[in-house]
Amino acid sequence: MSMTKKDFIKFADCLRKDLERREEVPGYPYYTVEIGDLADALSALNPRFKRDLWLSYLRGECGPNGGQRKTIKDVDAEVRGINNKIMDGVLNGKLNICDRCGYSTTNEEVDGTTLCESCKQALAFLNR
Ligand SMILES: [Zn+2]
Repeated sequence: MSMTKKDFIKFADCLRKDLERREEVPGYPYYTVEIGDLADALSALNPRFKRDLWLSYLRGECGPNGGQRKTIKDVDAEVRGINNKIMDGVLNGKLNICDRCGYSTTNEEVDGTTLCESCKQALAFLNR
């Protein structure tokens, strides 16, 4: 299976994390491979690989699709949006808060108790 766009983004994210670490930790090992050569190798894996875009993303100049990078404010707005959707679901009775952890939402009931997926798995593990 050849690498997909998702894989390329994930790969760039790993490299970026590593680059940041290199700046923070003295003596952190250096690459012996040139990023440009790496980008060439990725180009060979998938003809639709956008080399320049990938390098710009790696340098933190743009988002994974070439648009603006996400700011803390964007991420915050996204999280608020998700929270509002969850609260709407709870208030409209479409979602229930898990009886066990009181955190996750779900509409699954087991023996009259609302359990989220994590708690269901935890209980199944404990009851083995
Ligand atoms: Zn739970």
